[in-house]
Amino acid sequence: MNAVVKERREVGAKITKVSLPKIKDHEVLVEVEAASICGTDVHIWDWNEWAQKRIKRIPIIFGHEVAGKVIEIGTNVTNVQVGDKVSAETHIADNACYQCKTNRKHVCKNMEILGVDRDGVFAEQFALPEENAWKNDHHLDPSIASIQEPLGNAVQSVLPKEHIEDIAGKNVAVLGTGPIGLMTIAVLRELGAARIFATAGGLNKVRMDLARKMGADMVLSAREEGERLVKTIIDATDGNGVDVALEMSGDPSAVRQAFELLTPGGRVSLLGILDKPMELDLNASMIFKSANVFGITGRRMFETWYQVRGLLAKPSFREKISAIVTHRIPIRDISRGMDLINSKQAAKVVLDPTW
Ligand SMILES: [Zn+2]
Ligand SMILES: [Zn+2]
Repeated sequence: MNAVVKERREVGAKITKVSLPKIKDHEVLVEVEAASICGTDVHIWDWNEWAQKRIKRIPIIFGHEVAGKVIEIGTNVTNVQVGDKVSAETHIADNACYQCKTNRKHVCKNMEILGVDRDGVFAEQFALPEENAWKNDHHLDPSIASIQEPLGNAVQSVLPKEHIEDIAGKNVAVLGTGPIGLMTIAVLRELGAARIFATAGGLNKVRMDLARKMGADMVLSAREEGERLVKTIIDATDGNGVDVALEMSGDPSAVRQAFELLTPGGRVSLLGILDKPMELDLNASMIFKSANVFGITGRRMFETWYQVRGLLAKPSFREKISAIVTHRIPIRDISRGMDLINSKQAAKVVLDPTW
């Protein structure tokens, strides 16, 4: 079959023929109908510092955001059938460690990630454990189905655990307008947030326009606002600051702003990944502010997926989210897809299986 393979420890990847994946007894074989490009894939393509440290296995087929059809099942598979439409929960847990046994599978100690630790989805077919196959509605557009995984990141940032579902009527700031930041704005609007403030690092018109379209009331460019940014938002909340701040950029100055913007006793979710360690004044940011802080990784398995399904069941939400897919291109043009993301002309790029 055709696959996008990272063959060497250098920039780029090769589209080449590989043998078909063999499934184990508890796995299913999935034929890819759509795959979307994640920031992680761009890192692997660009072979940046993170990828150089993180990717142990070369050659590897990368890619993990996907929608497809089950074409074969292993002998021990009981809940998934041939013909089912599925997406992948990309965190593959061992179901044996302390985290797994205490309801925290998404941070399994021995976790494998699809397309990072084992062969992924930028291929005609891929193998997936039954447990990680999330069954989709047959009518769901594959391009939307493929972005449920990052949408789950957005939902988990907004609703990090049970009983935190306190968004209605609250003022919220979203720092960062990449695909997950944009999805987060749409989720917040759907859940009845009062005012939504979005901040973009640069002056990217495509993403700032999308932030407004997703439902942000005020979209500010950090570059344009500079020092005024925090004050502008605090002034717009009657001097209180926001109830919830969601950091989706991984930029150290945005992380600091998330805490500066926050009303005392408020909540912060940190999803954006930083390039390197940063300094933060814990006294002012967290301790004296009595801030509730959540680190967000992956999706709660599988509570978050049910929440995503519930949101996507609503046609207006589905339609709104579909605007984040700015490009749909054949997978043979994956190199162009990477350029579109690196040059920030695209939000989400979906790859069709045309080789
Ligand atoms: Zn991803
Ligand atoms: Zn585990």
